[in-house]
Amino acid sequence: MDSFNETGLKPEIIAAITDMGFEKPTPIQAKSIPQLLSSDRDIIALAQTGTGKTAAFGLPAVHLTEVTDRSTQTIILCPTRELCLQIAKDLNKFAAKIKGLSVLAVYGGTSIDTQIRALRKGAQIVVGTPGRTKDLINRRRLNLENVERVVLDEADEMLTMGFKDDLDAILEATPSDKTTLLFSATMSREVLRISQNYMEDPIEIKVAKMNIGATNVQHIYHQVQARDRYEVIKRIADMNPDIYAIIFCRTRRETMEVANKLMYDGYSADVLNGDLSQGQRDEVMQKFRKKQIQILVATDVAARGLDVDELTHVINYNLPDDPEVYVHRSGRTGRAGKSGISIAVIHSRETNKLRDIDRKSGIRFTKEPVPSGLDICKTQLMTLIDKVKAVNVDEKTIEQFLPAIYEKLEDLDREELIKHFVSIEFNRFLNYYKNARDINIADRGDRRNERRSRDDRRRTPYTRLFINVGASNRLDPGRLIGLINQGLDSGNAGIGKIEILRNFSFFEIEEGIENDLIDALKGRNFEGIPLSVEVSQERRSSGGGRGYGGGGGHRKGGGDRRRGGGSDRRGGGERRGSGHGDSKRRRRRKV
Ligand code: ADP
Ligand code: MG
Repeated sequence: MDSFNETGLKPEIIAAITDMGFEKPTPIQAKSIPQLLSSDRDIIALAQTGTGKTAAFGLPAVHLTEVTDRSTQTIILCPTRELCLQIAKDLNKFAAKIKGLSVLAVYGGTSIDTQIRALRKGAQIVVGTPGRTKDLINRRRLNLENVERVVLDEADEMLTMGFKDDLDAILEATPSDKTTLLFSATMSREVLRISQNYMEDPIEIKVAKMNIGATNVQHIYHQVQARDRYEVIKRIADMNPDIYAIIFCRTRRETMEVANKLMYDGYSADVLNGDLSQGQRDEVMQKFRKKQIQILVATDVAARGLDVDELTHVINYNLPDDPEVYVHRSGRTGRAGKSGISIAVIHSRETNKLRDIDRKSGIRFTKEPVPSGLDICKTQLMTLIDKVKAVNVDEKTIEQFLPAIYEKLEDLDREELIKHFVSIEFNRFLNYYKNARDINIADRGDRRNERRSRDDRRRTPYTRLFINVGASNRLDPGRLIGLINQGLDSGNAGIGKIEILRNFSFFEIEEGIENDLIDALKGRNFEGIPLSVEVSQERRSSGGGRGYGGGGGHRKGGGDRRRGGGSDRRGGGERRGSGHGDSKRRRRRKV
């Protein structure tokens, strides 16, 4: 079913849900709505969270309400106060264009008198938790004699929460010829019992688990400092050149920030949020659907009307407070039989949100490290090579130029030739990532291990080394560790105290490997500066004083690295353009 127009719902209702961004019925809605409008048979509907069950029972309930009659015609039972409020809110929206229809939520933990007063005015649809509903019935404040349908939403949850007796009592108070609708994620023994005791020849509606917590969606998380969130996005995009993704942010402002950075850094990205006019929104969605945009940065609300099936990734720039929202977001990938990845970027204190999601939806997350600079370089290189192999060669035209080309390349052998042509495309990338920091943060378990190994190291004797780059060259401890590990081709070297000074730095390294490291780093470039490392003669750090191994000469390197330039397609970030800067600086030094 492609449109709500085919469901038979009143035009006022369709207009209201169109305003909400509903474009077409979800599978459970497509099956339930026509059924409920045309027959009063009982229904058991089994469907996962996020499949649109509220509208599946809510829209028919609104449609079938006789507004001139103030008595309660529909009673909806659900397990929690939050759900009550949510359902009542949704139903009010569905009924926004229908006069005289009132929906009331009744739940515990708040004044019963207010609810009683509201009931006195009459509510055709009552949404309640079982405890409070039973209470109101017992006090004869809620009259269910005219009820035409009872909805048991999240019936399995209600039963596991111990509402069995309440449910029994409430159902006893309803007319026997009512329609009972039972919604549940699972068909448990208890659910079966309710259906056997209280339902008559029910139709069973099942929808394939599709897209919701679907098994073909892999849920992973990266844990970083809040300020590194954007860097994670960048690395994910660089690691997946064919990415087709939605990045969900919490606020409109955040969507703007992230989208702007991505666009500035040369990615194929755009923003979708409520600040755009309807026309602009349509345009962005259209472009995204046509894959003219690879990455869409959106708020949950704005993304609602967007239906795309082939997303490779869903990225949670921030985790939502409501686990259901996560389920809904991640359900946008892994559709139509394809596999998908849902990524949550979280900081150190957010693991409890992951646990919440797990508890509510059974989604298991695995922690994965943010791709390292080297991983990304490798992937990008291989993509480039694949492109080279796949490129269409116009033999005829190219032939006439070949002799001259061969002549020019004469003194390069095969290996050198490959290195050269790869570097043309790749140097900027390499420059950005070769000394990239490890931005992962350790969770508690990891930290304990780290501490332990730090204790071990305390016993290790260190050698103090000098290196001719410092803060003015954008060196920070992370990048220095990156340099060291790269130089030694391992991440195991014991590293002691690190002191980053303005134009040069000191660090301690496990005794015995200093010479290997000095050799390994000699001649390497860091931000355009040829490195020089030597054993420090001085125990104390002082900010200057003695001239350490040409300490004066590298001061130049601190210069402006923020040369705008707009031509880099990828891998830029704020260091974009450093490729050009490097060669300039080098040239200057030669002179
Ligand atoms: P469930 O009860 O199955 O977990 P909900 O009814 O809460 O799911 O719906 C999940 C989300 O999907 C809500 O944000 C809702 O507004 C939205 N939604 C429901 N039906 C549609 C639809 N046909 N088109 C777009 N969004 C929908
Ligand atoms: Mg629901």
